[in-house]
Amino acid sequence: MINPGLQYPIFGSEIKCPHCRQVIPALTLTDTYLCSRHGAFEADPKTGDLVHLQSGRHWRLWQGEWYRQHTHADSIRFEIHEALDRLYTEGYRATKVIIARRYRDLVSTYLERSTPWRSNAGDGSCPRLYGLPVDFSPDPAEEPCWETINFDLEKEPGVPVRYPYYRVFE
Ligand SMILES: [Zn+2]
Repeated sequence: MINPGLQYPIFGSEIKCPHCRQVIPALTLTDTYLCSRHGAFEADPKTGDLVHLQSGRHWRLWQGEWYRQHTHADSIRFEIHEALDRLYTEGYRATKVIIARRYRDLVSTYLERSTPWRSNAGDGSCPRLYGLPVDFSPDPAEEPCWETINFDLEKEPGVPVRYPYYRVFE
């Protein structure tokens, strides 16, 4: 007996394209999804990543949303900048950025520190991005979403605003 689930890649018979959000079909007996606008995406059953073959971009799925997995500090900084921009145009002010722990090494050299050589943790030694204090997320073992999502913004009055609400590709 053939298990019909095995004929499709790990994300099933169709997915939403991470770029344009159109529903796109899987090619049976392959790990590939094909978007008419963006070409082929390949699901990696080992890592659970979806890879855009043309650009090499990786995506992971969390609760029905794709999250781009960053390999360059510039691209995650850009994504955070876009989210801050949208928050601002909606009339809110961000008070903190919480970045996924897995990006710590990638972004830490880019964070602003007003007094980098002081070891006592006064306010001035807090790492900042775009002027906002930065925290790193809990370990994914404690909160599994942090294996996949990239960052949270905390806005006044302290309610965390979770990206995908501020998706870059819409
Ligand atoms: Zn597409």
